[in-house]
Amino acid sequence: MITISIIVPCYNEEEVIIPYFKETSKVLIGMDVEQESEFIFVDDGSKDMTLQTLKELSAEHPNVHYISFSRNFGKEAAIYAGLSKAKGKYVAIMDADLQDPPTLLPQMKEAIENEGFECAATRRVDRKNEPPIRSFFARLFYKIMGKASDIEVVDGARDFRLMTRKYVDAVLSLKEKNRFSKGIFPWVGFKTKWFEYENIERVAGTTKWSFWKLFLYSIDGIIGFSTKPLAFSAISGIFSMLLSIIIIIALVIRKILYTDCAIEGWASTICIMLFIAGIQLFATGIIGIYLSKIYTEIKQRPIYIISEEK
Ligand code: UDP
Ligand code: MG
Repeated sequence: MITISIIVPCYNEEEVIIPYFKETSKVLIGMDVEQESEFIFVDDGSKDMTLQTLKELSAEHPNVHYISFSRNFGKEAAIYAGLSKAKGKYVAIMDADLQDPPTLLPQMKEAIENEGFECAATRRVDRKNEPPIRSFFARLFYKIMGKASDIEVVDGARDFRLMTRKYVDAVLSLKEKNRFSKGIFPWVGFKTKWFEYENIERVAGTTKWSFWKLFLYSIDGIIGFSTKPLAFSAISGIFSMLLSIIIIIALVIRKILYTDCAIEGWASTICIMLFIAGIQLFATGIIGIYLSKIYTEIKQRPIYIISEEK
């Protein structure tokens, strides 16, 4: 009988796995659940010694399991693989770099066991040590997401959370290939208690997220949980059509009132043409993004491929 399963996605994390394991085990021992807990490390196609480290750790500790992907499939895939394998009554997701403090686990378990929550989630309350441009776009993303979708995506929400079996099964019942956890978690609902903490620096190694990767991820989020951009492109079409009708009427009136008005230059014509072309391309682009998501979804490819596991 396993009480807590802990899922740890790892991509090139050779330096942090052992410190992470030690810290977290200490907390589990303190909670008196170490004997009934399992770690599921997901090696997301790492190119360093991550898998080797996991194998050694797993040989020493029977409660350490690992799944190794055939290549890098991304953190979302790693989370999904971990959730599918987890057997625990409660399941946690944690980063390997100790940016998610394991010391919160006892309070999180308490919230689920005694306060009737199905999920204990975390968010960081500041964006210290983050480049200002990144913070700006992150805030912008949360604003757009809040307006565009019906779900509430919490600003600064981390993937670090503890969930009940019921909650995990609900998350697993969403079979989509373009997975966006920050949207899936609020989408499944249930009572969630939020824990806040200040940003903690990585113990070692570097972040795996480039600005570009984050940008694409945010597009995934908006497209995956809202169809408002499609409506927006339709509305911008109607808007430009109305504008053109107004201009036509104005020109006709001018022609009737001032018959001798001269033909004006081409600058205004070009501006209008560019404006209309811009709106058209923008709208087509939005449809294209949805189409590409439908395309990848409909191919029904697996979310990840396992090369070995234990
Ligand atoms: N990660 C992963 N696959 C990836 C990128 C990241 O499994 O393609 C893991 C990574 O090993 C770490 C977690 O996801 O455990 C969070 O990544 P990172 O710390 O680089 O992100 P940050 O904390 O900077 O947002
Ligand atoms: Mg990190």
